[in-house]
Amino acid sequence: MWRRPRPLPVAPPIVVSRAFDTVSDTLRWGETISELFDRQGVAGLALDRFDDEVALDPRRLRAGMVFTFVRELPGIVPVEVSVRPDAARIVRYRHTADGWTALVDTIRWSPDVVRLEGAIDHSLYVALDGLVADSVLERGERTRLAWELAEIYAWTVDFTRDIRPGDHFQILLERDVSSEGEVRFGRVLAADLTIMGRRLPAFRFVHPDNSLAYYDDRGLSLRRAFLRYPVRFRRISSRFSSARLHPVLGVTRKHVGIDYAADRGTPVMATADGVVLRAGLAGGYGRLVEIRHKNGIITRYAHLNGFAKGVRKGSRVIQGQTIGYVGMTGLANAPHLHYEFREHGRPRNPLAVDFGNGDPISEGERAAFDVRRQQLEQRLYPPEQSFAQGGE
Ligand SMILES: [Zn+2]
Repeated sequence: MWRRPRPLPVAPPIVVSRAFDTVSDTLRWGETISELFDRQGVAGLALDRFDDEVALDPRRLRAGMVFTFVRELPGIVPVEVSVRPDAARIVRYRHTADGWTALVDTIRWSPDVVRLEGAIDHSLYVALDGLVADSVLERGERTRLAWELAEIYAWTVDFTRDIRPGDHFQILLERDVSSEGEVRFGRVLAADLTIMGRRLPAFRFVHPDNSLAYYDDRGLSLRRAFLRYPVRFRRISSRFSSARLHPVLGVTRKHVGIDYAADRGTPVMATADGVVLRAGLAGGYGRLVEIRHKNGIITRYAHLNGFAKGVRKGSRVIQGQTIGYVGMTGLANAPHLHYEFREHGRPRNPLAVDFGNGDPISEGERAAFDVRRQQLEQRLYPPEQSFAQGGE
């Protein structure tokens, strides 16, 4: 009897896909790009023989740059080499029948907003460092955030003295996130610190001329005519005093400025708008910048390692502009900035000068400021959570 043959089992189709192997390798200290390429089996790729946009100068490649090599298995010679010369680009070199070609991928950065809240027990930096995960902000960016807050509140909070257990912070932060998944800290949009029982809100406001400042909830600027700190320092190594033992000369001398210990090369900022009176060697001061400001005020920045570009006698500088870099020229036994504040020739303690209240927001900008402040408040202060209401 005839029987219908059983259908043969059908195997699923086999898709032969090409297999790739991806390896990253780092340009080491003292190594040339040819040595790295030899190690990875890349031949005939000259990074400088391309159009400007995708060419790389082999002499300018820094140790630590990471190159990625893609091999098409079972081959052992890379078919693609890629590298990120800066934060905004990936350059890919591909091997084709005609030799190496190059193309560039742009890395997109887009902003997002995060809210941080927590207790400050000893220091703002320690609090932020303990609270914020690396995935939200990496370590160096947390340090930057702590400094940015210290500068916003420079004239309202002395972070070296005023902090008490139970103090508290809320921060609204704008970050930049890349299409590669990296996070970069952008700016503080708003903050509210509770310090010694006092609440200190701050709102970032950009004026129509693109200048910006932080204002409290009444619209008073937190900025003063002078920056409180001319440098992002590690510690104050010597305060203003009428008598102290000079560490190098070994004799008692008054200290007419403030010493900020910081790493060599740390940027030094002009504390207010002004005109450079001198930028050069000045005896025990070493490399010195002296700036004349309004109202008979002069500031001095001493022991500099070097001067910023364009800073010379007669040049105009604005508040926050980098004028030089921390060093230990002149009479100094460690890298630090010696900062002086003189009014009509008399040295004053820059940390004790009273600049009064900040300027209020102008009448013409009041309405725009209030709208912005309310937007920021809604995101800075979350609505009451119902489970918290039965409270302690
Ligand atoms: Zn000093």
